[in-house]
Parts: sequence; C-alpha cells; structure tokens
Amino acid sequence: MAAGKSISGAVKGGSSSSSSSSGGGAATTLSPAPPVTPAAKSAAEVVAAAKAKADALAKSAVQKYTYTKPDPRAIPILTPTLKGRKVMKFVLANRIQVYLVSDPNLLTSAAALCVEAGSWQDPDEALGMAHFVEHMTFMGTARHPKPGFFDDYLAANGAQMSNAETSSQHTDYAFACPHKKFLQALSYFSEFFTEPLFSSSGADKERHAVDSEFEMHKDDDSYRMYFVEKFLASRKHPFQRFSIGSLKTLGHVNHAMLAAWVRKHYSANLMHIAVYTGLDPGAVRDDIMSHFSAVPDRNYTRPLVPQPMLDKDTEAKIVHLQTIKRLRSLTMKWEIPPMFDHAPLLRPDRLLSSVLGDEGEGSVLSLLRKKHWALSLSAGMGGEGRDNPTFEVAITLTDKGQSLWDQVVKLVFEAIRRLQLDGIPNYIFDQIKLKDTHSFQFQWRTSDAFNSAMGAASAMVKESLTTFPRVSSVIQDFDAKACQALLRFLVPERMHLLSMGGVPAPQGGFPRREPYYGAQFAIEAIPETVIQDWQGSGTSSEITAPKPNMYIPGVSPGSQLRPSAINPNGPVFPELPQPDLVLNETFGTLYHRQDDSFGDPWLSASFRIRTHKKFVETMGAEALVLVSLFVSCAIEHIKTASYPFVTAGLSAGLSLGKGPY
Ligand SMILES: [Zn+2]
Repeated sequence: MAAGKSISGAVKGGSSSSSSSSGGGAATTLSPAPPVTPAAKSAAEVVAAAKAKADALAKSAVQKYTYTKPDPRAIPILTPTLKGRKVMKFVLANRIQVYLVSDPNLLTSAAALCVEAGSWQDPDEALGMAHFVEHMTFMGTARHPKPGFFDDYLAANGAQMSNAETSSQHTDYAFACPHKKFLQALSYFSEFFTEPLFSSSGADKERHAVDSEFEMHKDDDSYRMYFVEKFLASRKHPFQRFSIGSLKTLGHVNHAMLAAWVRKHYSANLMHIAVYTGLDPGAVRDDIMSHFSAVPDRNYTRPLVPQPMLDKDTEAKIVHLQTIKRLRSLTMKWEIPPMFDHAPLLRPDRLLSSVLGDEGEGSVLSLLRKKHWALSLSAGMGGEGRDNPTFEVAITLTDKGQSLWDQVVKLVFEAIRRLQLDGIPNYIFDQIKLKDTHSFQFQWRTSDAFNSAMGAASAMVKESLTTFPRVSSVIQDFDAKACQALLRFLVPERMHLLSMGGVPAPQGGFPRREPYYGAQFAIEAIPETVIQDWQGSGTSSEITAPKPNMYIPGVSPGSQLRPSAINPNGPVFPELPQPDLVLNETFGTLYHRQDDSFGDPWLSASFRIRTHKKFVETMGAEALVLVSLFVSCAIEHIKTASYPFVTAGLSAGLSLGKGPY
C-alpha cells in the first residue's frame, strides 16, 4: 500500500510479523536522547500483571449493545445474488462502533479494528512508536504470551492472512480466516486490545522489521519526494516528523514505554470494528460483544491537528527532486482548509476533480495530448490525516511538455478560470450521483473479505454509523458555492509545485539533502513574471466542461439506458446463458445474448479481427512488433473519444492475440 502516502502499510512477509508503516519524514533531531524509564520487569511479571489486569477488565465489562437508528435515506442493494446479505450496526457499552455484514455466500470471514491513534502521536523521543506498537501487538497477549501465536493459529487453520497498518491519525488491524475458525480467531484478536503484552520477546525482531520497512523505500522516487515534502513541511506540524521508525529512533523503547503509549492513546470510544462473515449475524454480534466489551473506554478526545501542514515558505516555489529513475512528473498542490474534509455531504473536490481530471473532448488533458505535451493528468483531494486536506493536479509530461512546463501549468489555470466563470454544471453532480448509486445498488459480492473489512473499519472514522456506508459511497448534496469556495484557494501564489523531472533541473543542481533517505533536492522560486502570467490566465476556447455522458444510465436529458428487468428464473451457475447466432457470413460471425440474470445496465462486446497467416509467415517477428505498435497507437488515439465510456464504469480494450482460429 505504498502508493498513497497518507496511509501506508505492507503485507506481512512472514507468518509472525505484522507490518506496515506510515510514511516517513524528517525530524529536527535525528538521535533523540532516551528518556528515563522504569526498571524493566521480568517476562513472568509482565505476563502475570497483564493477566490480572485482563481478568479485572473482563469482570467489570458491561455486556451490552445498542443498535443504531435506521438510516432514513438508506439505499437498497439490488444485486439479486446479495439478497441473503444482512447488515447489523451497533455500539457496545464501551462505545466501540460495529458494522457487521453477514452473507452466507462469502468464501471467508474477516474482521478489522481501526483505532484513532497514529504516528502523529509518536513521542518526540521515540519516533515511529505507533508503528512499533502495531507490530508488537501481534507479539503475544496475557493469555497467549507466545510471540506470533495469533498468526500461528491462523496459519494452522488455513487462514489467508492478518495484517495491520499505521497512518498518521489511525491504526488498522485485520485478519481473515475460514468461517468455522472465525469466532475463535475473533476471540484471540480481541486480546490484542484487552490484554496486550508488549513483552521484550519478539521486540528485537519487530524493531528490525520496522527498520527494514524504513530501508525498503529508499530507492523509490515517490517516497523520496514524500520525505522531502515532510522535511519542508511546517515545523509546528507533526507531518514534519519521521514516522516509520528505525533502529535508531526505537532502539531504546521497552515494554513500559509501549504499554504507557497505548494507555495514553488507545480507547474504546475511538475504535471501529468491521466484520464480513458467512456466519449467522446474531452469533457473531454476541461474540463481538462478549470479547470486545472489556476494551477500556478511556474517554479520549479524537486527536485534532488544527494548524496548517505545509510551510508558507514553499508557496509559489518549485521543489525539484533529483530522481533515480527518468521521470517527467509535475504536481500542483494546494493546502485547503479542513472544512473541505469535514463536510462529507458536500464534496466539491469530487466535482472539481471530475472536470479538471476529465480526459474527454474539451478537457485539459485532451488539449495537452493534442499538443504532445502530456501523457496523463489526474486531479483530486489528497492530504494527511483529517485536518489537512490538499487539492492536487498531477501531470505526466512528455519531453516537449517538460520544456514548456509553465505553459502546461497555465492551461490548468485556464481550466480553473473557466470553472470560476461558468461554475460546475448541475449535470456533473447528477452524473456522479447516478454512477455512485448504480455502483452501490449493483455492487458485486466481495471476493476479498479482508480488504473489505479493513477498508470499512477505517472509513467508519469519517462517517456516522447510522448512515455508514451510504455517505462514503454515494455523493450527497450539490452546493455550487462550496465549489467556488474551493476554487478560490487554487491560485498560483499559494501553489506548491513538486517536480520529479517535470521541470528542467535547476542550474545549480540539487544542493540540499533530506536527512533520512538522503534524497537530494533544490528549491527554486517561480519567477514573478510567470506567476503574474498564470494569475492573468483567461479562458481557452479549447477547454470546455465535459458534455453530459450518455453512457451513464438515467442521465438526463438524453440517455435511454435503464437497468433492465431481472429474470428470476435465469440460469444458475454452472449452467451458463447460451448466446444466439445472429449472423454467419463470410465477412464475420455475430453472437448475441441478452443478460437478464443480473439486470446490470451493461453491454459486453468482443470483436476479433483475424489477419492472414501469411502476414506472420512472410514478415516474421517484425509483424508482431508492428502490430503491437499499431495497437498501442490505436489505444492512445481513441483515449479521448472513449473516455466518457470508460468513466461511466465501462471498459474497452484492444489487444494483440494469436491463433489458431
Ligand atoms: Zn510495519
């Protein structure tokens, strides 16, 4: 999960090590002095104390749950094969929120727990502490002190995996296993949060595992840029600090420090559990209650970081990274106020990114492609944590685009100007809402219960349990003013421009060095004349808002596409629908089959064009090379025209195949 730096983790390599990281960064002090800590207890003392505490907690736990009120605007799932699915949403007496999905046809069961505590709460004297705690959580509990006992149990019972990840403001733990072992595994999993041991056995191994995660991204340019960004961030903001952890920052951390940190930051009222299971939901609900009610509710306040994350000093400047690979990447980035991340009902960022990131006729990217300046462009909200959203436009340039980088950026500002003048058309919102609604209503059964549970638990942080997952899944309200408010922040003088070969290297080279990964970089002020040129951007007649997308069923006006009626007596696997032969001529053969099993408003077409066998016989390998080149060019050529089709959730592809036919 290294691509997104706001949350990062890694799949465990072995059976007994948890893993993950939140990305890293720089700290003002590389080698903090170890604090004075209490004398270390013996392993037996640690286990005995943890057991006594666990017994006391279990005794005092209130075994109760309360269902949430029904969501008045709930959207029904229409996928016929999900008819047997049941959802329960309830809150335990200690205020842990639970989202439970029971589906008899799921292949495995999975559970995830998200706790709202992360690397931004690392103590200065032990950077990487949250991540180290995450690893050490798998290293034994009072009742099962053997390090890695949980993974051993899963492995012995044919389980797929357990894993965890630490991000800036929350940490997620999850596992998946066969249904028949799930309740037992769930009971063991709950011990992580009621009776963690954090004994010294296993600590050295996990310290090295954390350190190797720090080392493994050293040659990754996007991580190197991320570390430079952290190094240059506001000194008052925790984003600025190193957060993966290493032997250097965690070498002195002992049992007492780990346990004290968890006591200080983990609390049931900041925890969310998501479960996907094939078992009876009532039985799973009762087991969750019986195992997790003992997690202490310490009544902690959700951690907030109200100050800006990026430093004003890097506004209107280019940060050049000396890349390892040959890249031509440019990212325009603005820090935007927390309100844009705190109002889930209004998502102006989604509307803006839908237009700025459009790839169809009249889009910025289609114009950049026409000019041979860029290959790809994406736009959207990014950021770290809950309180520091950013809006970003990332562009992959061509060599020609690199030499004209300021003109490329200018075209983006012209598109922004167009939106400021014309506003976002209402139909853009309607289309996003229709697409979201169709995706939700016609969702497929997950084949990956593990990631579904992990994704749901961390998404629960951002939404009330009553509405979850409706608001996270479907855009809710349109507010033109919110869009204009967001656009007002996207100005040249507030932009941070990050270049990984997107702008020609500065004349003075890359004189500065980020201290953790040793990434070399340079900072260059954008010339005032260029800023003024961007500020004065007009609108290009070649950049226009995307037209209504007729491929989205129900788009008004115009689309005749509607979900079709569902045949309740359709063939059930392994019986398959049989296509009809419609045409059989020397020119070609055509088969057709109307789907009435699912009702999805989809069309699937497959065309096969045969070339004469002599083509390859006479030209040999050259034929394959030329056809491959032709296919690549054809794909590039139809990208703009096919974008509305692709963005409607459909897909199209061209590929080179080989006989015999
Ligand atoms: Zn890790």
